[in-house]
Amino acid sequence: MKPSGRLDVVPWAKDAAVHTLFDALVGAGIAARFVGGCVRNSVLERRIEDYDLAVDKPPETVLQSLKARRMTVVPTGLKHGTVTAVIEGRPFELTTLRRDVETDGRRAIVAFTDDWLEDASRRDFTFNALYADLDGTLYDPFDGRRDLADARVRFIGDADTRIAEDRLRVLRFFRFHAWYGKPPFDPASFDACRRNAGTLRGLSGERVRKELLRLLEAPAPADTIAAMVEAAILDQWLPECVGAARLRELIAREDKPDALRRLASILPTGADATAIGKRLKLSTQESLRLEVMLAPEPAIDVAGGPKAWRAGIYRLGNGLYADRLLLATTAAGDWQAALATARGWTPPELPVSGGDALKLGLKPGPKVGALIEEVERWWIDGDFTADRAACLAELERRVKAP
Ligand code: ATP
Ligand code: MG
Repeated sequence: MKPSGRLDVVPWAKDAAVHTLFDALVGAGIAARFVGGCVRNSVLERRIEDYDLAVDKPPETVLQSLKARRMTVVPTGLKHGTVTAVIEGRPFELTTLRRDVETDGRRAIVAFTDDWLEDASRRDFTFNALYADLDGTLYDPFDGRRDLADARVRFIGDADTRIAEDRLRVLRFFRFHAWYGKPPFDPASFDACRRNAGTLRGLSGERVRKELLRLLEAPAPADTIAAMVEAAILDQWLPECVGAARLRELIAREDKPDALRRLASILPTGADATAIGKRLKLSTQESLRLEVMLAPEPAIDVAGGPKAWRAGIYRLGNGLYADRLLLATTAAGDWQAALATARGWTPPELPVSGGDALKLGLKPGPKVGALIEEVERWWIDGDFTADRAACLAELERRVKAP
């Protein structure tokens, strides 16, 4: 693989941990290059999440060589060729050059190689096969930089073939388009995705979930989602999807992007959050949050003003109230002020409890809870102004009431 240019800015040039890592690798006779997202984002001078490297020796060799140099190395995926070096608390993924031996559309059996071009050829998109040396020398075997500059996501090689090897690449195509693309789509790549839209069923929920949420995290994913709906890409994994109209409104309003909330915005109110959560392998907590975001009740009363906002925040909790508010795009009223309240106001705790009712002579039983709930409603109706003494008096009045 021949060099083709240099990075203008080498983000890791003065990174001590990177130099420590390369000193060790070079000392052990291992050639390493940055690859994938970190090089792509270096070219664009965008923020880099973490450093992934490709290495030309088998994972056991990398593991032993770095251990022999007293470095912390974790065998995170020996079978797939990956070990993780941890330097100054930061993880560096080192993956041995690979080629596919067998693919079935879902997962690949790989063999290790020392051929950089072979490794590049099994990657998905041209700009994901960019490599860089420590000194910033670039390797760009498929003209990925031109595609990046033109904001075009393009499969390496024949798109249908590459999708047949791993059907997740259809979703990755749209994920990377949302982050790095602009219209129009590369026609050959898009047409292949459309043709293969009906073949995504066998993928694992975890992989689909990761791509979908990553896509939704992009700065402005609404057009991409709309194109996916149009091309029936989501029919197998998210048939409930109603399109991107509400997502657009949500993005215009949201104070910070949130993938799960954006997911809720492309689903209809009342959709089965549990089923969707199961399908996409959401955690119990994520599923419950999705359920509240999709629930028709309680309606968010934006027009009701501060008192109604505080009552809603008390009932739902600050985070879920903000979610529901941001998703309630048709509600009239000062939603910005409501959102500021959801972000800034801490709901008080009800100043009385069941114990107080017992002290007033009530016998333990369901009556106690019911009475406390009555006082709570009264306290909320009064906009939380009643203090403990006032709440106790109200409780007593109700205990003694005929
Ligand atoms: P991000 O910034 O989102 O992490 P990334 O490019 O690092 O972007 P990953 O999903 O972490 O994306 O994958 C790392 C690299 O591995 C990709 O750049 C690509 O070269 C390769 N890759 C990952 N998944 C696939 C796949 N399904 N098919 C082919 N190549 C893939
Ligand atoms: Mg990555």
